[in-house]
Amino acid sequence: MIVLVIILAVLLAVSVVFNLKLSKNKPPTVDSVHAATREILNHDVGAVLILSDSEQILFYNNEFEQLFPKIAAVANISEFPALRKLFSAKEYVSEELSKIYEIRCEFLDEDGSASRFLWLTDITSHYKTNKNLQELKDMADAANKAKSNFLANMSHEIRTPINTILGMDEIIIREATEKPIIGYAENIRDASTTLLSLVNDLLDFSKIECGKMEILPVEYEIANVLSEIMNMIEIKVANKGLEFTPVVAEDLPYLLYGDDVRLRQIIINILTNAVKYTKEGSVVLKVDWKEAGDSSINLIVSVTDTGIGIKPEDLDKLFVSFERIEERRNRNIEGTGLGLSITKQLLELMGSDLNVRSDYGVGSTFSFVLKQGIRDRKPIGKFREKYAYSREKHKKYRTTFVAPNARILVVDDNAMNIAVVEGLLKSTQIKVDKASGGLEALDLCAENYYDLILMDHMMPNIDGIETLHRLKEMDGPNQDTPVIVLTANAVSGAKEMYEAEGFIDYMSKPIQGKPLEEKILEYLPENRYVLVEYDKVEQDIFSKLWKSIADEITADYQFEQIDVTAAVESAEGSKETFRFLLESFRDNAAKNKNDIITSYEAEDYTNYTIYVHALKSTSKMVGALVLSEKARLLEMAGKEQNIDYIKESHEEAIDLFDKLAEEVNDYLTKVKPESEQE
Ligand code: ADP
Repeated sequence: MIVLVIILAVLLAVSVVFNLKLSKNKPPTVDSVHAATREILNHDVGAVLILSDSEQILFYNNEFEQLFPKIAAVANISEFPALRKLFSAKEYVSEELSKIYEIRCEFLDEDGSASRFLWLTDITSHYKTNKNLQELKDMADAANKAKSNFLANMSHEIRTPINTILGMDEIIIREATEKPIIGYAENIRDASTTLLSLVNDLLDFSKIECGKMEILPVEYEIANVLSEIMNMIEIKVANKGLEFTPVVAEDLPYLLYGDDVRLRQIIINILTNAVKYTKEGSVVLKVDWKEAGDSSINLIVSVTDTGIGIKPEDLDKLFVSFERIEERRNRNIEGTGLGLSITKQLLELMGSDLNVRSDYGVGSTFSFVLKQGIRDRKPIGKFREKYAYSREKHKKYRTTFVAPNARILVVDDNAMNIAVVEGLLKSTQIKVDKASGGLEALDLCAENYYDLILMDHMMPNIDGIETLHRLKEMDGPNQDTPVIVLTANAVSGAKEMYEAEGFIDYMSKPIQGKPLEEKILEYLPENRYVLVEYDKVEQDIFSKLWKSIADEITADYQFEQIDVTAAVESAEGSKETFRFLLESFRDNAAKNKNDIITSYEAEDYTNYTIYVHALKSTSKMVGALVLSEKARLLEMAGKEQNIDYIKESHEEAIDLFDKLAEEVNDYLTKVKPESEQE
């Protein structure tokens, strides 16, 4: 376009000169036309060259000559190949003049048969501006990345001392006898927990910013995710005197495939806000689902509160990082303005979105729909009731064992972490050896036998994984010792990853007393510990209580295979739990029986031993003591490779199993749950 304007200008100028000359009645000479053209084209329009249709050089201006001084000696462009190339180029860089030109090349006649026109415009300053802008943008990007990396590293570093504070504090709470001291320690625990969640938010935020946040799908039980959420949120709800109701669809498939860690985080974030921004009333968590084809479901989660609500004009600000709404009104409520932005971005990473409906002053509903795979369609059932049962069971937990003959090794480069584990295990009397790194651990392992090793993952020199690999390779007493890895990052899929490396299990930091004891008990050889019995008097009281509850149950139904008092003992005195145990037994009976029979028929006695071992405890749980004893003998025979005994007793065990299953079924059909009885 500009080219055409210039050409028009040139032609106009030529015609003006021509007309002037005409008006004086003198025909214009070619020279005078050229002079006028030259005059105009030499006025800062760029470098211009005009060729005839036979590539004869007709015209070039001063700037062109400055650029290509050799042009003066050339009549036809074919004698100047370097110049000819420009007709098909886009840019030309003149090193002598330190300039960059944009090249335009056009035909003066539209059909392309006549003269050509080459025009070079100086774009050096434009180019420099662009380049500067790009450089500035690169610098800003690099600074932003450095900030995110710094945040990620700092958050990681800050977590280590917080974990120590939490661990040491738990020891104080356990050991202190004076009430005020326990009170102070509890305050430290609450503040450190808040600090930890803050740092975790920062870590997530920076991970998302650097694009390092990964979604790791695994197989998971939705009831476990929901129970953990309930554990976290119930205390907060109770502290504020709110009502909290989880409504979970009973037909929700129990085994799903997705990133359970992130799902839990998202729901906890939304629920925590609902509790934070609600003064009175209720919070309802609803979990529903719909088929989504190709063995997946749409999980539909919503959280509704009767809280302060959000003004329509503020809705857009909800998801802006570090932005908080109505800061003055909410100044007493702790927060960073990161939670919802992380939640939304996590959902986006999983192909979903966060929806908000809110009525200012009335309440809000945050909801999302998340596609998850199905791994087992068995329905989850009555979540609330089952949760209440497992919580009761947890409450009654107390230190359960002493193990003065057991010896374990704790490997961690942070001495405080080791001190925490030592402190938490003090009451069990376990002998704890310490190593501050992988190499030291390997030295100790070459000389001593350990019943169990707890190994940190991230350590300088050689990390936990490398240490474990070397331990397995070296000759020594600990080749088969179970090793549990301690990790700061509880990400989804971590269990599978660590198991694949050869760890038997993993524990995430901060290490807490109860889970630590439970894990140790799981892997310590049976002959190394003694379970702490209840106090004798307490035991008597419980026995009487259990007997009376068993009497109530047997008044409705006469059991033959089940020792009801023993079953009530497993159910810790709850009739509801007793029924739940029987239901679980019934639900798994077909599979358990099938496992035993199939491995027996295949003469696969290794798996057979594992299955009868499981039968030993499941039958004991429901009070089927005769079957449990039979299973114990079969398990021993399996371990000793006493195949004759297995062959003699297998049928009898299956027979007992069938009778038990029939009785359990009969009871559950005939006797209604208490809640349904008039
Ligand atoms: P914060 O750390 O401030 O809670 P969030 O990103 O989680 O940060 O939330 C951003 C803002 O959204 C909050 O400061 C609050 O004003 C508002 N908000 C979030 N959830 C609710 C809710 N359930 N009811 C009312 N306001 C809410």
